[in-house]
Amino acid sequence: MKISILTLFPDMVRAVLGTSILGIAAEKGKAEYEVTDIRDFAAGRHRQVDDRPFGGGPGMVLMPGPVVEAVEHVRRGHEPHAVTVLLTPQGRPFDQAAAGDLAAKPGLILICGRYEGFDERVRETLNPLELSIGDFVLSGGELPALSVVEACVRLIPGVLGHPESAREDSFQGEGLLEGPQYTRPRVFRGLGVPDILLSGDHEAIASWRREQAQSRTRERREDLMEPRAG
Ligand code: SAM
Repeated sequence: MKISILTLFPDMVRAVLGTSILGIAAEKGKAEYEVTDIRDFAAGRHRQVDDRPFGGGPGMVLMPGPVVEAVEHVRRGHEPHAVTVLLTPQGRPFDQAAAGDLAAKPGLILICGRYEGFDERVRETLNPLELSIGDFVLSGGELPALSVVEACVRLIPGVLGHPESAREDSFQGEGLLEGPQYTRPRVFRGLGVPDILLSGDHEAIASWRREQAQSRTRERREDLMEPRAG
């Protein structure tokens, strides 16, 4: 999958793309990253990308010209079915199901905002998928874009060493939270490990894990127990 990120802070993004699973995905040829500096598409000696809001108010707004031209340039290097994603707290809440859908696309083009966000005509011109990573406001779209990229890339077949680990993660499959997990030592500060996990009885362990996932989900995220639409 080809993944392009458009940002005013390319170094911030590059550092993460080369690390851990994202770096491994690139080494395995499963993901290809391209980072574009929106400022390269700004006109004039000062390479201005933002300006004061019409109508007054605090802060600066990203001008439509540099953002739209940068995206149009990047789109020319992508498959026609690549998805353009605009990161905004006003977008559709990003979740595991959306990560699964995006992981199956041939390409992603992610646009990171800054300052007070984008001139509305960016949306009108590019018609992107607008995604939010939660009901809080960050100063820029870089961390949201990297969150989307990491959630998607780890679902691309062949990226994770153990594909079943992603299948058993929270929100996958039946959409429950994963239950408690243990590793060595068997006793830590007086706290033991449930006997069943040491029993070697794989069927009993699987059914214990399922019960734990259900009770943990009921306890922490009752909303996930409700049948999903569709
Ligand atoms: N004024 C905007 C509003 O109220 O909707 C918020 C702008 S925010 C300070 C700057 C940029 O950070 C946004 O354009 C967006 O790209 C990114 N951003 C901040 N919070 C986000 C979130 N929860 N999800 C996705 N992107 C976010």
